[in-house]
Amino acid sequence: MKGLQDNSKEILAARVNGRLVDLKSRQCEEPDVEEGIEWVNVSSPEGLEILRHSTSHLMAQAVKELYPDVKITIGPAIEEGFYYDFDKERPFTNEELLKIEERMTAIVKRDTPVERMELSREDAVKMFDGMKENYKVEIIKDLPEGTVSLYRQGDFIDLCRGPHIPSTGYVRSFKLLNTAGAYWRGDEKNRMLQRIYGTAFPTQEALDNYLNKLEEIKKRDHRKLGRELDLFSIQDEIGAGLILWHPKGALIRKTIEDFWKDEHLSNGYQLLYTPHVAKLDLWNTSGHTDFYRANMYAPIDIEGQEFQLKPMNCPFHITIYKTKMRSYRDLPIRWAELGTVYRYERSGVLHGLLRVRGFTQDDAHIFCRPDQLEKEIASILDFTVYILGAYGFTNYDIYLSTRPEKYVGSLENWDKATTALSNALKAKGLEFQVDPGEGVFYGPKIDIKIKDVLDRAWQCSTIQVDFNLPERFALSYTGEDGLQYQPIMLHRALMGSLERFFGILVEHYAGAFPVWIAPVQVKILPITDKQNVYAEELISLLKKENIRAEIDSRNEKIGFKIREAQMEKIPYMLIAGNREAEAGTVSLRHRRDGDKGALTITTAIEMIKKDIADRV
Ligand SMILES: [Zn+2]
Ligand SMILES: [Zn+2]
Repeated sequence: MKGLQDNSKEILAARVNGRLVDLKSRQCEEPDVEEGIEWVNVSSPEGLEILRHSTSHLMAQAVKELYPDVKITIGPAIEEGFYYDFDKERPFTNEELLKIEERMTAIVKRDTPVERMELSREDAVKMFDGMKENYKVEIIKDLPEGTVSLYRQGDFIDLCRGPHIPSTGYVRSFKLLNTAGAYWRGDEKNRMLQRIYGTAFPTQEALDNYLNKLEEIKKRDHRKLGRELDLFSIQDEIGAGLILWHPKGALIRKTIEDFWKDEHLSNGYQLLYTPHVAKLDLWNTSGHTDFYRANMYAPIDIEGQEFQLKPMNCPFHITIYKTKMRSYRDLPIRWAELGTVYRYERSGVLHGLLRVRGFTQDDAHIFCRPDQLEKEIASILDFTVYILGAYGFTNYDIYLSTRPEKYVGSLENWDKATTALSNALKAKGLEFQVDPGEGVFYGPKIDIKIKDVLDRAWQCSTIQVDFNLPERFALSYTGEDGLQYQPIMLHRALMGSLERFFGILVEHYAGAFPVWIAPVQVKILPITDKQNVYAEELISLLKKENIRAEIDSRNEKIGFKIREAQMEKIPYMLIAGNREAEAGTVSLRHRRDGDKGALTITTAIEMIKKDIADRV
């Protein structure tokens, strides 16, 4: 390779005329084209992908060396690493993964050159046939006529487009993470293969950071914390994707719901309640039986009439709109409901609280005049930022999705609505990306993804303009001129679904809910039985101030009681011994800051109340 001295193995490949090529390729070695070469560094996105893809080849080589009968299939780089699918009778055990890792390290040390070869399709088929690699034969037979490219490192040969690293010594810090079953070509009629997931990074430090983050994600898993903190469960007797809220989870939900309802009432909304089922006809009128059928359950027969479990709340709110004549002076109408809906999801995609079959949307519908649209969107944005901020979410990824190919409504209305959405975002100084053509067929929308403490993005809030339902239900209002006009309808959710939002909250706070949400805010810990009476006095004072408190009066050592309260992630502990009982004080302990010293009960209550009010 000319013009490049790279002993540190930082440069993995090159880009020539926009195409990624191997460092050993003819293009890189011909000096006259050197000007058009861009070197691909291991820390660039392309470099990282080549490194990971090459590590997957390396893993396949190690597997073949250790288990010559195992057959290789495919092994791509993926977003945070790579995988490779092998045809092997039994899943790989953890011990086997360690053995494979060791062998990979040995192959890295060998620094075997990685060579590209080109063969005719027939020769490649013959070669893999001879090696009894029937999956490779099957893949090649599906390729168009011509030559195919292969990569060889030592005795290991894989079919691949490349590019790859020049030698195995370029692989640095890697880790095999876990295994899973995967059907050949993703088809459950095919044979089940054994997949190994792994990841690779340019430096050990970057790998360690990534592994720490995975560890942190595991620790925060809402399914694990939900069980440990006794918040919710999903039981076989009830059914997959259906949530049971246990007392502590239910208390948190009540706090979230109360806050939501109070804030809606003081922000110009009215609250509604609507049933969980309605006649199937309603869903014919709304069009859901056409375009949403795949997500709906089968109708229920009630006295010969078909009823439908609701997948959405909108038609109910619309029906209430239609119970009266509406005038331009009545608009905007803002109706909100914590509405429970049921949607079909395949059992394979259900996941804790994040993907369920029954959930409660924090839904609202706004009916307004065209001249009110932009102001309404702006105030929804304000409201969204305020509500999400109360839970500590202040970073967002915002998307504006515009008109798709198939749409209803006039072009003029689409343009007006899209402009209104984008103007409102700009006026609020919220940065956003445009997702061209990604709007729903009935109107453009804004989607807001919130970022949690681990910087993971979660789709929660949405604001959608709808030209379809007002038309289908023939909604109208009387204008100033006495004529009838069609209102514009907005669908809007801030948290999205209470179940999902709760799951995100559990992971965001790692179960240590802020005082205002915590199901138990204070635990009173008498040091001996003698302080039980004093503890009762304390709890009645706290309850008078609406502070959620419990006493741990068990006959246990105080150190043990503190540890348990800490495990339950209770924000405050009030410890009372003889001295405190006599002086009318408590020794206050915070779950994060530790011992805060002795305080009068009045001071302690003031402190706790201030933290509740500040939502910390
Ligand atoms: Zn490859
Ligand atoms: Zn709706």
